[in-house]
Amino acid sequence: MTMTEMETVAHWIGGERVEDAGRYGEVTDPATGAVTRRVAFASAADVDRALAAATAGFEAWSAQSLARRSNVLFRFRELVAVHADELARVITAEHGKTFDDARGEVQRGLEVVEFACGAAHLLKGEASEAVGTGVDSHSLRQPLGVAAGITPFNFPAMVPMWMFPLALACGNAFILKPSEKDPSASLLMAGWLAEAGLPEGAFNVVHGDREAVEALLRHPGIASISFVGSTPVARFIYETATAAGKRVQALGGAKNHAVVMPDADVDIAADAISSAGYGSAGQRCMAISAVVAVGSAGDALADALEARVDAVRVGPGVDDGSQMGPLVTGAARDRVVSAIEAGESEGGQLRRDGRGVSVPGHEDGFWVGPTLFDRVTPEMSIYRDEIFGPVLVLLRAETFDDALELVNSNPYGNGSAIFTADGRTAREFEQRVQTGMVGVNVPIPVPMAYYSFGGWKQSLFGDLHVHGREGVQFYTRGKVVTERWPEQARGAEYGFPTHR
Ligand code: NAD
Repeated sequence: MTMTEMETVAHWIGGERVEDAGRYGEVTDPATGAVTRRVAFASAADVDRALAAATAGFEAWSAQSLARRSNVLFRFRELVAVHADELARVITAEHGKTFDDARGEVQRGLEVVEFACGAAHLLKGEASEAVGTGVDSHSLRQPLGVAAGITPFNFPAMVPMWMFPLALACGNAFILKPSEKDPSASLLMAGWLAEAGLPEGAFNVVHGDREAVEALLRHPGIASISFVGSTPVARFIYETATAAGKRVQALGGAKNHAVVMPDADVDIAADAISSAGYGSAGQRCMAISAVVAVGSAGDALADALEARVDAVRVGPGVDDGSQMGPLVTGAARDRVVSAIEAGESEGGQLRRDGRGVSVPGHEDGFWVGPTLFDRVTPEMSIYRDEIFGPVLVLLRAETFDDALELVNSNPYGNGSAIFTADGRTAREFEQRVQTGMVGVNVPIPVPMAYYSFGGWKQSLFGDLHVHGREGVQFYTRGKVVTERWPEQARGAEYGFPTHR
C-alpha cells in the first residue's frame, strides 16, 4: 500500500477531522515493523486555523457555568470508561506496550478526569470583609484563554489527560500536539469530548513535528504551553515559549534511581525493580533505570534481578502472555542497542543481554530484551544518559550517604525510590533526596491525580507541576477585587490609598 492509500490520522480542528496536509508521517506497529497509517503533519497555517477555532471555542466554553463544565467532563469520563478497551487497543497497536499496561495507562488518565470533574472546589476564591472602612475584597481565578499541550509517545492517552481535563475544567480552550509516533489515541479522545457536549473548537488536535511545535510556541494567541518529553526538547520549549511571553511547564527526561539497603527484603526489591525497569520496555519517565545497592545488598540483588530477567516474557502487546513489548520504533531500538554496546565497551559487566532477541512470527518487530549491567560506575554513559529502554544498571555504594550523594549528583530529578526495612533510613532519604517524587518500598511513585506530578532539576523547566492543585494554578490566573460602595463623596485623597 502506498502512503496516499493509507488511512490518515487527521487533525481535529473546530470539531471536525481535517485530513489534508502537505506533509505526512508514518505510524508503525512496533510488534511487526509494518507501517499501518499515515499521520497529517501540521504547517504554521494549520496551527493558525486551530488557534482561530480555539479562540472561538474559548468564548463559548468559558461562558458556561461551572456546573455545565463539570457535566461535560463527567460525560467524557463515562465515554472513556466505556471505551477503555478500544482506547487501550489503539495504544498497544501504535506504542507496542502490552494491553494490560495500556489499560493501566487509561485508568491513571481517567483519575485526572475525575479530579477535574471536581475542580470547581479549587477554583473558589477567597473573600475578606472590611479590609478597610466600608471596603471588601475577594479573589478570582480565571482561565488563561487558549492553552496548548505537546506530549510524548510513551503515554499517548495518560499524558494528554494530565493536561486537557484540568485546562478545560478551568475554562480554557486547548490545542493538543500529540506524539507523531502514536497519534490515534488523541483523536478518539477528541471525538468523545465532542460527544460529551464540549463546544466546537474548545479542544483541537494538530499533529506533526517541529514545524507544528514552533508555530505553537511563537503564536501570540496561545497563553500557555504544557510540555512533556525529553530534556533537550523541554529546555528548548521552555526558552522559546517563555521568550514569547507564555506561561510554561516543561517536563523533561529522567534517570530514576532505586536505592536498596542491606536490610531490604531482596525478593520484594527485585520484583519491584524488575517491574519498574522492564515494564513498558523501560519507556516510562518514572521507570527505574539505575539501581544503587548499598553495602552487602549488591550480590544477592544482582542474582535476584538476573532471575527476574530470565523469566520476563517478551512478545507482542496484544498477546495475553506477553509481559514486555517492543520498543516504539526501529530508531529507538537502534539507540538502545548502541547504548548497550557503549556500556560493554566502557567496562560494565553485562549480566543479561537483550540484543538479538527475536519473537517468532514477529521477526521485524523492534525488539530488545531485558538487559542487566552490574558493576556500573558513574562515569559510564549507560549511567549518565537516559536510555529509555529495558536496561537496568546496577551500581554499588558503601554507605547510605554515598548512595544519596550519587542520586543527588545526577542532573535529573524526576523520581527515586528506597527499599529498606528501617523507618529512620526511609525518612532520611525522603527528607534529603533531590527528586520531585519519592517512593518508599514503592518503585514507581506516580502521585494520584489530586497531588501534582513533576520532577526537579533537569526533569522540569518551569515552576508548576502537572495536575492536582498546581495544575489548577497553572491553568488559571488570579485577580483580586477591592470594592467600596460609598454613600457620599469623601473628597480627593492624593496619598497612597490605605483604605483606613
Ligand atoms: P521527545 O522530546 O522526542 O518528543 C516529545 C514531543 O516533542 C513530541 O510531541 C515531539 O513531536 C516533539 N518534539 C520532538 N523533537 C522536537 C524538536 N526538536 N522541536 C520541537 N518539538 C519536538 O520525547 P519522546 O521520545 O516522545 O518521549 C520520551 C521522553 O519523554 C523521555 O525522555 C522521557 O523521560 C520523557 N518523559 C518525561 C515525562 C515526565 O513526566 N518528566 C513523562 C513522559 C515522558
